[in-house]
Amino acid sequence: MGKIAVFPGSFDPFTIGHEAIVKRALPLFDKIVIAVGVNSLKNSLFSAENRVKMINAVFASEPKIEIETFQGLTVDFCKAKGAHYILRGLRTAADFEYERAMGQMNKKMAPGIDTVFLLTSTEHTPINSTIVRDIIRMGGDASMFVPKAINLKDYLL
Ligand code: ADP
Repeated sequence: MGKIAVFPGSFDPFTIGHEAIVKRALPLFDKIVIAVGVNSLKNSLFSAENRVKMINAVFASEPKIEIETFQGLTVDFCKAKGAHYILRGLRTAADFEYERAMGQMNKKMAPGIDTVFLLTSTEHTPINSTIVRDIIRMGGDASMFVPKAINLKDYLL
């Protein structure tokens, strides 16, 4: 089955920061499952189905990548996929504190699963889905923050 990583996130929307993390992680794993979290408590701009579609548009020709939605605990989804790794990106010290707690708690719940972190490259550090959503809501052009294959207008409800 090989080394499988799950890259969980909201991806609302998927940005060039996310894309860079996935591309850099590709040589490390046999398969990466990009897992779009369906969280009814989060007020998302793009539907989960459209988030899957936009990520598909980016990685359509990459056989090592699968894109799925998931609900519930990331570690349960990893077990269902046979994944022993969770992939996450680290931008800032604030990311680190949150990710450390989540990674350590996930490790307690699922000792067989490790979280692998990649530091964001300097040019992607400020890119943040929340701000991208605000730009879109205010009628701005956010296209420079998302992969070229994604035309955001196609995915808005
Ligand atoms: P979540 O709601 O789980 O934080 P996000 O979609 O915001 O979902 O992020 C998913 C993952 O991608 C997280 O590990 C986050 O730190 C990482 N990430 C987000 N933006 C960037 C970026 N610009 N560069 C690198 N990693 C990023």
